[in-house]
Amino acid sequence: MLVNIEKYNAIKAVADERNATLVAVSKTKPIEAILELYNLGHRDFGENYVQELAEKQAALPQDIRWHFIGHLQSNKVRYMAPFVHLIHGVDSGKLLKEINKQALKANRIIHVLLQVHIAQEETKFGLSEAELTALLSEDLSSLQNIFVEGLMGMASFSADATIVRNEFRHLRQLLETNRQTQGPTVNLQTLSMGMSGDYAIALEEGSNLIRVGSSIFGSR
Ligand SMILES: *Cc1c(COP(=O)(O)O)cnc(C)c1O
Repeated sequence: MLVNIEKYNAIKAVADERNATLVAVSKTKPIEAILELYNLGHRDFGENYVQELAEKQAALPQDIRWHFIGHLQSNKVRYMAPFVHLIHGVDSGKLLKEINKQALKANRIIHVLLQVHIAQEETKFGLSEAELTALLSEDLSSLQNIFVEGLMGMASFSADATIVRNEFRHLRQLLETNRQTQGPTVNLQTLSMGMSGDYAIALEEGSNLIRVGSSIFGSR
C-alpha cells in the first residue's frame, strides 16, 4: 500500500461535506501510488515540478486532472499548456500573459488561480494585497485563452491555530472583496487553501479546494 486509504477516505469525506475539491499532492511520489488512488476513482492530482508533472502525465491515464501548484517560471509554461487543468501559483502579469500565449498555441483556455502572500514568513511566494488589486484592475479581457477563477494561498507554518485561521480568513475576504472585478476572463470563485496540517481550519474558513499530500501518501 502506497496510499493511506483510511486517511484518504476520511479527508475526502470532510471535503465532500463542504463541496470542496480534494487535490491529492503526489510530488516526489511514484506513478504506482497515483494509480492506487486513481483506481479508487480519484482524478485530481497536484504536482510542483514541471518536468515531473510532464513525465507523470505522459505515463498515466489521460482523464487525470493535473493541478500545477508549484512556483512557475515563464519558460516552463509550454510543457504543461497542452494538458494542465488548473495552475494555482500565478503571481505576475508577465506569467499570465505567457500562459495566455501558450494556451492559444495549444488551442485551449487554461484556468488559473492568483497566489496571494498571506503568511508571515518571508519565503512564501505570492502577490501582496496591493499587487493583487493592481493586477485585477488591469484589463485582462484581451487574454482570451486564460480564465482567472480564484485565489490560492499558504498559511504560516505555525502550531498556533489562531494565526493560521486568521490568514485563511484574510484570503477569503480578499476573494469576496475582489469578486466585483468580473470580466470575460475573470470570475473569482475558487479558494485554494489548506494542506495536510491545516485543511480542517481552511475548510471552516471557506476553502473549496484543499491540497493534501503527506497525509495521503506519507511523508516525503
Ligand atoms: C507540497 C504542497 C502541498 C501539500 O503539502 P502536505 O503538507 O504534504 O499536504 C500543498 N500545497 C503546496 C503549494 C505544496 O507545495
